[in-house]
Amino acid sequence: MSYLVLARKWRPQTFGDVVGQEHVTRVLQNAIRTGRLSHAYLFSGPRGVGKTSVARILAKAINCEKGITPEPCNECSNCQAITSGRFPDVVEIDGASNRGIENVRNLQESITYRPIKGRSRIFIIDEVHMLTTEAFNALLKTLEEPPPHVHFVFATTEIHKVLPTVLSRCQRFEFRRIATNVIADHLRRICKAENFNVPDNVIEALASEADGSLRDAETLLEQVVAFQGEDIADEELLNLLGIVDQTTLLEAAEAILSSDHPRCVEIAQKVYERGIDGSRFCARLLEIFHELLLLKLSRNKLPPDQKRTIASRLGSLIEEIDVDQLQIYYELLLRATEQARRSSEPRFVVEATLLKIASVPRLIAIPQIVRALKDGKSVTVTQSIDAISERGTPHLTIQKPKGREEIPHSEPKLPPIDPLDPAKSWKHFVGWIDTQDPILGTALNESTIEVLNEKRWKLTVLSVYTSLLQQEEKQKKLLDFIRQFFGIQDLSLDIDENGKKKKSNGPASEAQDATYNNVKAELKQTVMNDPVVKDVLEILGARVVDIRPVKKVLKNSVIADGSESPAETEEK
Ligand SMILES: [Zn+2]
Repeated sequence: MSYLVLARKWRPQTFGDVVGQEHVTRVLQNAIRTGRLSHAYLFSGPRGVGKTSVARILAKAINCEKGITPEPCNECSNCQAITSGRFPDVVEIDGASNRGIENVRNLQESITYRPIKGRSRIFIIDEVHMLTTEAFNALLKTLEEPPPHVHFVFATTEIHKVLPTVLSRCQRFEFRRIATNVIADHLRRICKAENFNVPDNVIEALASEADGSLRDAETLLEQVVAFQGEDIADEELLNLLGIVDQTTLLEAAEAILSSDHPRCVEIAQKVYERGIDGSRFCARLLEIFHELLLLKLSRNKLPPDQKRTIASRLGSLIEEIDVDQLQIYYELLLRATEQARRSSEPRFVVEATLLKIASVPRLIAIPQIVRALKDGKSVTVTQSIDAISERGTPHLTIQKPKGREEIPHSEPKLPPIDPLDPAKSWKHFVGWIDTQDPILGTALNESTIEVLNEKRWKLTVLSVYTSLLQQEEKQKKLLDFIRQFFGIQDLSLDIDENGKKKKSNGPASEAQDATYNNVKAELKQTVMNDPVVKDVLEILGARVVDIRPVKKVLKNSVIADGSESPAETEEK
């Protein structure tokens, strides 16, 4: 039995039969109804999703003997001739083998003839991106003024290779990769009609393996059916075809999520023995983690159809896992898929990947740590992926000191405050301001104070902060703080620039510095107001030293073959 039989037999013959491309068929049918058919269509999309099938149905709809119709009758001689590929006015050209200028010239000549049997002549050019530039340019002339009795339908899997000038003269339709559940339903329909007895788990494996292509799915089904009548177990059947089955994928995900290393090795071995392509396996596992990520983000709302299997089997395992953690698994798998594709030993990539991912220590969100510490529990804090790949899996345990609450609360010792010699306690004053008004505190960084007389002090600050401190509102605030701290009333301040200027390239750069420092000060204020940060400071007795953007966790991580990936500088 030829593998093409099923695909040909189940080729859609009406717009209604077309699977998964309703957004295209509806618009085309409306164009037919309203008499607004275009003279040039461009169908783009992956292979096996119905581009040429829709082109033929369109040809029938235009040439049906019962009149131009949104759904061809498939009974008249024109419809039947088009279905069997014998209609003189529908010309199918393979762009890959007719790509030269000569072919297009022949086409141009043929276009001038009136239709022989039908209403219009339809030229279907498949893989149109294969045409040479010369051929494209010749085609362009035809597209500029197409004869009224001609319609073009171009199909391509690589739209980016089609000249923009051609694109702009066509009405474009993007055909979609067909959803796995839609493909599975279609296969079930075929099985029912053809009396094939194929178990559902095999159908789902075939649908996933087809990767959005209905034609590939039909071809795979054909191969499975060829084994019918022979006593072969489902798993063995999938083995024979080298297809990844859902069960193995779920087992792998389960082993990863529960950090079960021996199981990971077993699964990698099984994948190898069954002749499953390593990169395909990683890609399918990636899909599972993509689903898990979505599941987690949608707060465990139950997803439709077969994804329920994933949810019901793995849902409880991801409950305790942070979204960031799943994100790390996902990124590791993404890289592994790429590596397996390039590797001459994809088997080891699979094994190393499973083990590596299963070894990723659990990340714990800061609020969770704070909560645990508040409850008096100890928390294991793990390091970043960088550290893991370089030095195994170190664990750092932070324990809340026992009976911390009982320790009498004591203020840090302050030197006696002398309002006549504020310089002595100035550092403490600035430290205190930092807790009251971080912007002001930052501005007083590296400042010094000097007493000019009883009612007048000289404040020297970094040049970038002078303008900030000269603002009336800030000065008022500062004087108020001085009154509270030193007990001095009616003081006036001379504000002076610190001689220690930063390397400056003139006023513009200084202004930039000032903006930078203002932004930083505002950032500090925001961070200090964060309840989690407040808790951390209080519980751990910590203080904020610096605030920096978070580097991406996966930076420089080493995977499988030990090669280092280029550093990513993306910041969160
Ligand atoms: Zn007809």
